[in-house]
Amino acid sequence: MSSTKEVRVRFAPSPTGELHVGNIRTALFDWAYARHTGGKFVFRIEDTDTERVTDEYIQAALGTLRWLGLEWDEGPEVGGPYGPYLQSQRLDIYAKYAQQFLDTGFAYHCYCSAEELEAVREAQRAANVAPGYNGHCRNLTKEQVAEYVAMGRKPVVRMLMPDGTTTFTDLIRGEVIFDHNFVPDFVLVRNDGSPLYTLAVAVDDVLMKITHVLRGEDLLSSTPRQIRVYQAMGVAPEDYPLFAHLPFVMGQDNAKLSKRNGEVSIAWYREAGYLPEAICNYLALLGWSPGEDREDVTMQELVELFTVERVHSSPARFDMKKLEAINGDKIRALTPEAFLDWSLPFLTRAGVITGTDAEIALVKQALPIIQERIATLAEIPPMLKFLFTQDFAVADDSVAKIADEQSKKVLQVSLDRLTALADWSHEGIEGVLRTALIEELGLKPRIAFGAVRIAVTGSHISPPLFESMELLGKEKSLERIKASL
Ligand code: GLU
Repeated sequence: MSSTKEVRVRFAPSPTGELHVGNIRTALFDWAYARHTGGKFVFRIEDTDTERVTDEYIQAALGTLRWLGLEWDEGPEVGGPYGPYLQSQRLDIYAKYAQQFLDTGFAYHCYCSAEELEAVREAQRAANVAPGYNGHCRNLTKEQVAEYVAMGRKPVVRMLMPDGTTTFTDLIRGEVIFDHNFVPDFVLVRNDGSPLYTLAVAVDDVLMKITHVLRGEDLLSSTPRQIRVYQAMGVAPEDYPLFAHLPFVMGQDNAKLSKRNGEVSIAWYREAGYLPEAICNYLALLGWSPGEDREDVTMQELVELFTVERVHSSPARFDMKKLEAINGDKIRALTPEAFLDWSLPFLTRAGVITGTDAEIALVKQALPIIQERIATLAEIPPMLKFLFTQDFAVADDSVAKIADEQSKKVLQVSLDRLTALADWSHEGIEGVLRTALIEELGLKPRIAFGAVRIAVTGSHISPPLFESMELLGKEKSLERIKASL
């Protein structure tokens, strides 16, 4: 391929569900590679499996990519010169190529029934030979065909794999050779006329002028079949897309990533309070590294630094704790305005605020005291609830913790001293309580302030106590201590 050719990379999911960590890692690498090279990022929906792909999942896929900031140059809703970008709208194109392959002898009609194919598989299992189609229908006579037709059988279109091997250079794995003994003749079109993935994906990669296919390693074994389709289309080898198969993502337990060990939808992470830049930063590290042991990358740095040479071939391991830590870092790095914008929907959804100006003003004041302390946005509502609740009550699991004599004493002394405090600042509150509880009563800070914390915020987990009391105000703080007594 000439170096002047524009790089065109595609992300081509089959949305049979919500997009997951594994899909998005692929999308991210595709996007980063396109942006790094100044090429085009093409988004194609592979929805030929109409039973399993739904419009809802397609819409969700678009939303997820947009939310992550992985804008595409060509694809659904954006259009482009090689559309349509939904395979379900390109069926006539696949039919045309299937017919061409039949006409040129690259493919043939296969009339074998499901039972006959199963019998072949059974015999192969018994003989311990590689499974796959045995070529029964490769050279049917006119009479045999007529007989099948008379029986009412409808044929599939099957690609003929000639003897030999397919070799290609994977940009991550180097030279890969497939022996055709293990790549049997494969179906291109079902007997209801619908195309299969291998036909559609290869035809579209050619027609959409894709130069680089970066995708998961699970698709490595489909590559020789796709290359056969390029050959049948008459594409010159130097014009085949270059392949880069990204390493598997394993779960923490070294098992293949599944729902149980982190492979949940990106929508789930969004709900759970992860920032798009944290998800992208973390997923970028699954199989790629920016070098120098770095783990923090912005989207801009990812674009600057992303090369396929830096992608490893060994499996990556998904680590929820690391994602959480990166999310905490990204939250801390937010400007006050951005942090407010991210927080408000979480607070309203949780019913902590309704969104009045007064509430928002208080949220604005409160956010700086929690920004350092949270790892996900979902932690915000429980932390700030005490400031807004109308019917304040100490959490059930905390009531017992302030029912003892010592706690009562702490609360009584606090109430007396704070009532007399004129300067209701966090410094003022801290000064008074330290003097009264630590110095005079000789209590440990954890015990003394713990009781006040529960009385005022309702829980033993809260933002910093004195700042919390300052924000809540003198009247409410004292009211709550009184109520606890
Ligand atoms: N549509 C295929 C899938 O979601 C991927 C196609 C490709 O990347 O080659 O598994």
